Amino acid sequence: MNASNTPRRPAVTVREVGLRDGLQSVAMIVPTSHKLEWIGAAYAAGQREIEVGSFVPARLLPQLADTAELVAHAKTLPGLVASVLVPNLKGAERAIEVGADLMLVPLSASAAHSAANVRKTPDEMIKQIADIRAARDAASSKTIIEVGMSTAFGCTIQGDVAEDDVIRLLQAALDAGAERVGLADTVGYADPAQVRRLFEKAFRALGSQADKLTCGHFHDTRGLALANTLAALDVGVCRFDASLAGIGGCPHAPGASGNAATEDVVFMLERMGYHTGIDLTALLELRKRVASWLAGEQLGGAVWRAGVPKSRPATTFTSSSFSSQPGIQ
Ligand code: ZN
Repeated sequence: MNASNTPRRPAVTVREVGLRDGLQSVAMIVPTSHKLEWIGAAYAAGQREIEVGSFVPARLLPQLADTAELVAHAKTLPGLVASVLVPNLKGAERAIEVGADLMLVPLSASAAHSAANVRKTPDEMIKQIADIRAARDAASSKTIIEVGMSTAFGCTIQGDVAEDDVIRLLQAALDAGAERVGLADTVGYADPAQVRRLFEKAFRALGSQADKLTCGHFHDTRGLALANTLAALDVGVCRFDASLAGIGGCPHAPGASGNAATEDVVFMLERMGYHTGIDLTALLELRKRVASWLAGEQLGGAVWRAGVPKSRPATTFTSSSFSSQPGIQ
């Protein structure tokens, strides 16, 4: 899987979110020592973006109470982008204080999900993003501000989410000072046609800022996470969230399952000729370890059952769509 001899393979980033999106939905508290081992092994396997936790009050999510320690460890690994989720200004101040490389601010397109998740309207969250930007700049911090648009494809509470609401909020988030935005199918409602349509519509609407729409986040609740990843890839998205063993969910989205399994996303991309920089065999070894820590929890993914095929992945990249799309960065 080493791409050194095949420089023409387009790069795709797979950000690991299992330690945050995954573990926040798992009842058991994984010890910090195991999380450190996970981060170290994911890094050794080639992962260069890891969402290590979330700055929310420990009484709400005791599973993620050690986030500051995990950021400190992640910062010792050269080239690793350590990201954290921050639901509000207070969380952002912690992220800035510990020097996280990136903070992800969730912004729900659904007003009902927004009320349940962060107890604010979407427009109050926009104001919060502006406050976070001001705090970040005042601290002369380099922490990147990324906004993840939750429930962009539908909501378990509200049902349909208007595409125009999504587009308006994406633009508002950028106007408020976000440096990157992404679209998230928090509850697994999206289908590939919808993914393609909404990303294309968003790229068009954002115009010269289209390159700031960089991330797709798909849950596999109804088995379409990989198909949705591929649909987004085809219209120019080149950065995806995924969680090892497909763990995850959302506390306010009943029935939501985990993200696309990291190992399956990496397998698909590498087979297709994209370069992820991630060693699938090492990733599958790590999956075994993580699965042993999470005994009794529901895990996902498919590649781990049969392992890596003996035939070689594609070495020549053939897609004509990739370089002509506006989402490329
Ligand atoms: Zn999620």
